[in-house]
Amino acid sequence: MTVSLVKFDGSLGSLRKAIELCRGFEKLGRNDRVLIKPNNCFRHKIMPPYGMVTTSKVIDGVVQLLLEYGCKDISIGEGAIIGIFDELEPYTKQGFKGTGIDKVAEKYGIKLIDFNQGPFHELDLGGVKVQVSKAALDTDFLINVPVLKTHFQAKVSLGFKNLKGCLSKDSKKRFHISKRLDTLICLLNEAIKSDLVIIDGIYMLEKGPETLVGVAHRKDLIIASPDIFECDVVGATILGIDPAQVDYLREFAQRYGRSFDISAIQIKGEDIESLKEQLEWRFEPDKELLTPAKITGLSAPYPGQTLCSACGATLALALSIFGKDNPGMDFGGAELYYGLGLKPERDTQKVFLYGDCAIRSNKSLQNANNEEDIQSLKVFLIEGCPPTLTKTLLALMKTLLNKPRMFRMLLLRAIKLIGIRLGIYQEIFPRWERYRSKEFDKTHF
Ligand code: SF4
Repeated sequence: MTVSLVKFDGSLGSLRKAIELCRGFEKLGRNDRVLIKPNNCFRHKIMPPYGMVTTSKVIDGVVQLLLEYGCKDISIGEGAIIGIFDELEPYTKQGFKGTGIDKVAEKYGIKLIDFNQGPFHELDLGGVKVQVSKAALDTDFLINVPVLKTHFQAKVSLGFKNLKGCLSKDSKKRFHISKRLDTLICLLNEAIKSDLVIIDGIYMLEKGPETLVGVAHRKDLIIASPDIFECDVVGATILGIDPAQVDYLREFAQRYGRSFDISAIQIKGEDIESLKEQLEWRFEPDKELLTPAKITGLSAPYPGQTLCSACGATLALALSIFGKDNPGMDFGGAELYYGLGLKPERDTQKVFLYGDCAIRSNKSLQNANNEEDIQSLKVFLIEGCPPTLTKTLLALMKTLLNKPRMFRMLLLRAIKLIGIRLGIYQEIFPRWERYRSKEFDKTHF
């Protein structure tokens, strides 16, 4: 099959060219039920969307081309994971609103499906039972429209990873807590077939998946192919990540005898050599979020793959806020543990077990304050799956700040969080300043 690489010039023509070059609609029937799956995993209106979620510009273009082709039954489906500012469900609806995809649907009179609402079909993926949206399984033609981004656990989040959005919320968590994230992503893509993948590379994201930590760059590129494996191999190569080091791609390659030889892939359009970048995928949350605020004595080591994005995003937001409100402070050796499998260091003074997974997997610590070797260790639990932002901030404030400072932060934060919820306060973190530049175009969303 062919992978097309087309410079996006803002016109419908560039999207059309990307689809034509790879013969993306060749197997599409005019009477097919078509499902478009963007990456709209989570999105709050205050978060810069660049490189984090699919642009409504590309979704609008895909819908126009489908209508032009004669398709009548078109839907857009997603199952968002969380509203990180403690919003009530349904998150997906808020996500569609945050990206402007709701307006695209309204303009063309097409259906929006919230996968979180079900119905689901149970699948057995290598012994792990998961609930998958029936809408994703029953469609005739699935157009998978991820963004061009790296991911701090899966290395890249492109076509393969985007289908995780078709799972129920509990099943998404199961992908992580089963400690088999890569295998399950591979198996999910055997169960749900993408008929066409269009990677929205208007922006690309380094240290993804979100813009609390991640850094977006303008790229103006569309990568498309009916072959999801080749499309992801090309996408990863452009991001500067060796696709053979992406475990779920390697597993898929082994199962299906696929090759990572980029010269064997038929690429039409732009020359891939001139498009290659060198983006980072891995990061330490504390170094990214606390070090710039000159905070010392509070760390949050890399959690590995057992952390869900729901926990990860809420904690990243909590640390961003805590860093912004308490610059230059030293907290004397406190550590935050989350996900499964991390064990606190012995010289740590205070440990936060953040989320039910960390609490469950460190049970012995919770009664450990009398043990000789960790006498001085104090353990604080932040319960929830995931814990709410409010609960996380309260735990950090109560434990790490003196009383006057805590009350001041509590009061100011309460006012700001209410302002955010009401849409009358816009939180800006220092790392978001770059998105004021003209290259980041709000009208793409
Ligand atoms: S506690 Fe956090 S990491 Fe564990 S399953 Fe829940 S959301 Fe995922």
